[in-house]
Amino acid sequence: MASGTLHIDLTALTANYRALAAKSARETAAVVKADGYGLGSALVAQTLAKAGARTFFVATAEEGVTIRQALGAEPTVNVFSGHMDGDTALIRDHALTPMLNSPEQIARHQKALPNAPFGLQLDTGMSRLGLQPADWAEARAHAANATLLMSHLACADEPAHAQNGQQLGTFRALTEGLGTPKSLAATGGTLMGPDYHFDMTRPGIGLYGGFPFTDATPVVRLSLPVIQIRDIAPGTAVGYSATYVADSPRKIATLSAGYADGLIRAMSSNATLWYGDTPCPLVGRVSMDLLTIDVTDCAEPPEALDILGPHQSVDQLAEAAGTIGYEILTALGSRYARKVTA
Ligand SMILES: *Cc1c(COP(=O)(O)O)cnc(C)c1O
Repeated sequence: MASGTLHIDLTALTANYRALAAKSARETAAVVKADGYGLGSALVAQTLAKAGARTFFVATAEEGVTIRQALGAEPTVNVFSGHMDGDTALIRDHALTPMLNSPEQIARHQKALPNAPFGLQLDTGMSRLGLQPADWAEARAHAANATLLMSHLACADEPAHAQNGQQLGTFRALTEGLGTPKSLAATGGTLMGPDYHFDMTRPGIGLYGGFPFTDATPVVRLSLPVIQIRDIAPGTAVGYSATYVADSPRKIATLSAGYADGLIRAMSSNATLWYGDTPCPLVGRVSMDLLTIDVTDCAEPPEALDILGPHQSVDQLAEAAGTIGYEILTALGSRYARKVTA
């Protein structure tokens, strides 16, 4: 039996795209990297294309191939990592548009695929990807031929952070007077308002129901099956390293999912699962394929418990594990049965 059932609500995904598009000044692209934030990039991209998305962003050329094959020839598929050594055939054969990040990438693209489209990514203060201001003096000559000039905000999930305004100012200064379409905002920037929108917003996490899009409709529910339930006496330990010891008679359910399914070990002793409206604490350590849950308060022996669902969002579970929703979603493993509702 599968390690659980990941329910994916495509109606919610569509609703989130439309809600973010309604806030965006112009075009709303969709970021579908990391297998569509763990939900399945072909399925997600097809759903968002139906919802109206015409431009898609992925991290790598290989991810771009999957999107091109899922969507056919029409949509634009942009690659954040640009034109890396070895990417030329994929870019050419699948009509991908690399977002070039360095003088070396520009030279590589010009040489290998002189007539193929490209965008330019600028580093406005995140120090991660993109042309640095010093490179830009020369690279700016290519801007008129680019399909997009883009940059990425480091602090957009904190709207009051001073770096947002600084990056906005830098992006404006670097691209001033250029008629090429521009894009700065991911989910957080989309929510910060039209100053940040330029010609295209490119949300990711908000589409999938995650923070900082707090008004998002939840897209996933994750239900985990119970393998067995045991009664334990006071003084009995549960799990590796015996980190939990019962102080009263408890009912412990063992569930078929663990850190190999993305339910990271940092959830040990911190997360809560739900049986309908009844909270059931995770006790002891998360194992590779198993979780131990205190189901003493359940009215009957549960057959399955929810770890994501109406009572616990991706971000709430992330908080229990000391991480962020992005990591919870993209870590969801391949062992779940996927049940899609449209
Ligand atoms: C991942 C990413 C996005 C989408 O970010 P979200 O916070 O998920 O909306 C947009 N642009 C770039 C460059 C990214 O790396």
